[in-house]
Amino acid sequence: MLRRTKIVATLGPASNDKKVLEQMIRAGVDVVRMNFSHGTAQDHMARAERVRAAAAACERKVGILVDLQGPKIRVGKFENDKIVLGKDDRFILDAAHEGLGNQERVGLDYKDLPKDVSKGSVLLLNDGMLEFDVVAVKGAEIHCKVVRGGVLSNNKGINRKGGGLTAPALTDKDKEDIKTSALIKADYLAVSFPRTADDMKYARELMHEAGGKSMLMAKIERAEAIPVLDEIIDASDAIMVARGDLSVEVGDAAVPGLQKRMIKMARAKNKLVVTATQMMESMITNPIPTRAEVSDVANAVLDGTDAVMLSAETAVGDYPVETIQAMARICVKAEREMEDDVLERRMTQQKKFSRIDQSIAMSALFVASHLKVKAIVALTQSGSTALWMSRLNAGVPIFALTPVEATLNKVTLFSGTHPIAFNPTSKDPSVALVEAENELVRLDLVRDGDMVVMTIGEAVGKSGHTNTMKIVRVGDHRSR
Ligand code: PGA
Ligand code: MN
Repeated sequence: MLRRTKIVATLGPASNDKKVLEQMIRAGVDVVRMNFSHGTAQDHMARAERVRAAAAACERKVGILVDLQGPKIRVGKFENDKIVLGKDDRFILDAAHEGLGNQERVGLDYKDLPKDVSKGSVLLLNDGMLEFDVVAVKGAEIHCKVVRGGVLSNNKGINRKGGGLTAPALTDKDKEDIKTSALIKADYLAVSFPRTADDMKYARELMHEAGGKSMLMAKIERAEAIPVLDEIIDASDAIMVARGDLSVEVGDAAVPGLQKRMIKMARAKNKLVVTATQMMESMITNPIPTRAEVSDVANAVLDGTDAVMLSAETAVGDYPVETIQAMARICVKAEREMEDDVLERRMTQQKKFSRIDQSIAMSALFVASHLKVKAIVALTQSGSTALWMSRLNAGVPIFALTPVEATLNKVTLFSGTHPIAFNPTSKDPSVALVEAENELVRLDLVRDGDMVVMTIGEAVGKSGHTNTMKIVRVGDHRSR
């Protein structure tokens, strides 16, 4: 059975090796995430080439997601790499401190933090492990009292409870990195910590200026993003439920509900959605997941996420390949419990569409929910028809057939959608459809007698021109 839900795996030291990378792809990675918080432009370009080569070696399509660092606010480094703070200890976050940190103070990479906080602010460090009360701000110094102590090590992140830090979403480093992502031809570009739709529009402008053609992903990880989710999603092609930072900002208990809401909203707006962070956390050091992690992955699938994401598990973990195998197995099993939602959802949510190509995509879904078809087959250029089809679950696979390499690499993230390289020999749509059918038979994806619903544009090979749907019984053309 083909897996619907896609797997995004973050690359890092644990997954640099060519052999491991190929094993990860064979185990089921659909998209790799390149975390631009680490490494140089040269590193990223070399790594992207390794990914493309490994995908080719495995005869698989693998998308590349570039994840910009964004204004993650961090402490500097310490003399001995880390300190231990106890409850009620006093500690100073010092934006003017240049050297290494110690038991009394540490530097900050974001020099404006003292302007954004005041007496009474609550700061959470290291993904919320440590909690500080701000007792006073004196110039560049933020004087804190430790509410919850623990280990504080080099470059750990700082969030303010409730959000409200003013750091702009795109730093100078991000602007440079957008150029690198264009050179890499990233399929997806993720913006970290966007606060508004304008942050996404600005990122898109910069990307276009750099010649990039990525689909743009908004990482939802700031408290301020929640009230303006509608606008942010509208301005993006995809979102990430970035549970790490989001939990710290809005409180962990709010996140499961938000995850469900965000997934629904994204799909209803014809956008993609990735669920991220700590999904298989214990597998960083263990060969099997916890029961809770198994349920978390399965629940994200049942919520309707396009993809589930691995971070440290595949970047620095001891079991990158096993983690992917486990995740794939959990997804497939959970998908059997999913209900086809074509009819109900098209009535309630996907109400308005006026484009011809979108109408054909929706018609194909309608057919698939009534006739016992084996698959939906979309001959597409840009991938738009496949995207619309994949926003609802018709319970059958969508095969996206296209000669466009960039489209093949993008649909890797669309749930239920499988990229197939295909270039018809003729511009005659009836010839192209027969060739497409033969190709699916050759790949053993459909068999004689199977019914499939196919879509195509009569102007074969032109983007945005899908205007035709055909219901085909496989093999019938040979007896005509
Ligand atoms: P990060 O984003 O891993 O880049 O911090 C994901 C998250 O915050 O969940
Ligand atoms: Mn984050």
